[in-house]
Amino acid sequence: MNNIKAVGFDLFNTLITVEPHALSLAMDRLILSLRQSGFPIQEEPFKASYQEMAARFIQRSRQEGKETHNRFWISAALEEAGEVVSPEDLRIAEAVEHYFSVFYDYCRPIPGTEGLLSSLRGRYPLGLLSNFTHGPAAREILGRTGLASYFDTILISGELGFRKPFPLVFDTLSEKLGVAKHGLLYVGDDPDSDIYGASMAGLQPVWSTYAMDNNLPLVWAGSDPPGTEIPRISSWQDLLSLLDHEVKTAIS
Ligand SMILES: [Mg+2]
Repeated sequence: MNNIKAVGFDLFNTLITVEPHALSLAMDRLILSLRQSGFPIQEEPFKASYQEMAARFIQRSRQEGKETHNRFWISAALEEAGEVVSPEDLRIAEAVEHYFSVFYDYCRPIPGTEGLLSSLRGRYPLGLLSNFTHGPAAREILGRTGLASYFDTILISGELGFRKPFPLVFDTLSEKLGVAKHGLLYVGDDPDSDIYGASMAGLQPVWSTYAMDNNLPLVWAGSDPPGTEIPRISSWQDLLSLLDHEVKTAIS
């Protein structure tokens, strides 16, 4: 690490965590919303096609680097249930809102996150770059957890149209922060989208293993862990020590 001019962060499992049962509650709210909109869907078969379609769209999105959206796989799952509805249908938009409303209640910043951000804020421009399909929900979560105000720029893949590890999103982060990519430290938990992505784009990645070390459910299960050349942190104190060390090395 050297000559750090700005710091960027991933969101999920880096700054905030989601309680494990949130996903199944979100699914329940989605199904309830669709039923209330008049779709007579059966819970188990719908859940199965939803999972299958979501996996298909997400896999394609990962291959192409282009972000997808929940409305596409909800529409595809409804079609499997015999209901042909455009992804742009307002009933689907409503179901998406109901789905994400669960996360507003069950997302929490990792302990000490606000303190960390407020102490870094005077020293570096700060950016947030998250892979999240539904931009408005990501912004709502950032607002409700009180984290939004610490950032000079907030970039959400669902709004950019592209997702990490695609280099374009890291280019945008560097432009928005007004700092060259080699001077940008990027902290994230996902070995592929965060660490490989930031590294390939020319940023300086730091691997946060807080979620892994605390046995929280991981979204990136399956990727190989980064090599030992990548700095690794398990707490915000570790990150502050890394940055202080960097400052001391730069001065001496
Ligand atoms: Mg993450």
